[in-house]
Amino acid sequence: MAYSVTLIPGDGIGHEITEATKRVLEATGVVFNWEIVYAGADVMDKYGTPLPNYVLESIRKNRIALKGPITTPIGTGFRSVNVALRKSLDLYACIRPCKFYPGVPSLYKGVDIVIIRENTEDLYAGIEFEKGTPEAAKLIKLLTETKGDAVRLDSGISIKVISETGSRRIVKFAFEYARTYQRKKVTAIHKANIMKFSDGLFLTVAREVAEEYPDIEFEDRLVDNMTMQLVKRPQQFDVVVAPNLYGDIISDLCAGLVGGLGVAPGANVGEDMAVFEPTHGSAPKYTGQNKVNPMAMMLSGMMMLHHLGESKAAYRLENAIAEVIAEGKNITYDLKPDTASEPPAGTSQVADAVINKLVEEN
Ligand code: NAD
Repeated sequence: MAYSVTLIPGDGIGHEITEATKRVLEATGVVFNWEIVYAGADVMDKYGTPLPNYVLESIRKNRIALKGPITTPIGTGFRSVNVALRKSLDLYACIRPCKFYPGVPSLYKGVDIVIIRENTEDLYAGIEFEKGTPEAAKLIKLLTETKGDAVRLDSGISIKVISETGSRRIVKFAFEYARTYQRKKVTAIHKANIMKFSDGLFLTVAREVAEEYPDIEFEDRLVDNMTMQLVKRPQQFDVVVAPNLYGDIISDLCAGLVGGLGVAPGANVGEDMAVFEPTHGSAPKYTGQNKVNPMAMMLSGMMMLHHLGESKAAYRLENAIAEVIAEGKNITYDLKPDTASEPPAGTSQVADAVINKLVEEN
């Protein structure tokens, strides 16, 4: 059976890492019917937008996509092309596994955390009022009438929105994820002691949902305490669920704990659609140099294999990548602290090495 998958190479380094990832995915023996659609800076001139409609249509049709990074060109009307894509398709859950692979230069060993970040609400909902505008003045007037003079007249305002619906579906998603992947604990992140009606609601809902999953341990942490705990003893965490902003910050912190962007995969998932993509961006300064690490995108492909139910192929691919890292020969500059004695491998050599491992295993 062939899987129809939308493949978006993106721009910048996207083309190189997409080609490398496509090759390793095909080497697992799983058959794909790729529908390749172009987005990003490269199509701006032709379509006047980095996110043409045919990209969204293709994902809606296939319900699954593998995506390279896309540059958000300045002055396109998008705050971020990637946020626009997630919003248009209601991809409400962002999954960011942060796993230590032996051989990766990193301060910590044994970290294996999966961050589940809410993708649609919170301070990212885009409800903002610019300082000095009539809208801001109107809102400040309303706030002054109801809350006293808590808001200065020269304020810019961003609204933090957290709903019961949004909280329930993301926390449920985290618990379902934990069950599917035999994880033991879910930790909810919040600042409910201060933001009682937004984070407080998130926490209340998280506690309610946790009761439906007695087989999985549940705990919560204030976000400030969480950052300290993550730095001191990250191995204690398993699945972490968070509202949008804390999830964003904690994801990068955790990527840093396990060696950085080159090995940080991700997925954005909705009710019946999923887009798999590395955490990193298009790193334009490295475009076309066959230099950057394709492993974050390969590991995103590994997550896609799990999503498709091809778990055996997923584990084989992950093991092949882990072996290449552990050997330390065919790895890119970001995983090689000492490039003086032995030059780093290029993007395509990493793909060749992973494919060799897959072939050796057969
Ligand atoms: P970036 O992630 O593209 O690059 C930051 C730095 O990280 C690079 O200069 C490089 O040193 C390193 N890096 C990134 N990916 C790497 C890899 N695979 N291997 C080795 N090193 C790697 O972040 P940026 O420079 O802030 O953003 C560039 C563009 O990418 C922006 O237009 C931004 O909007 C976009 N972006 C897109 C996505 C996405 O498509 N999901 C995510 C983040 C940023």
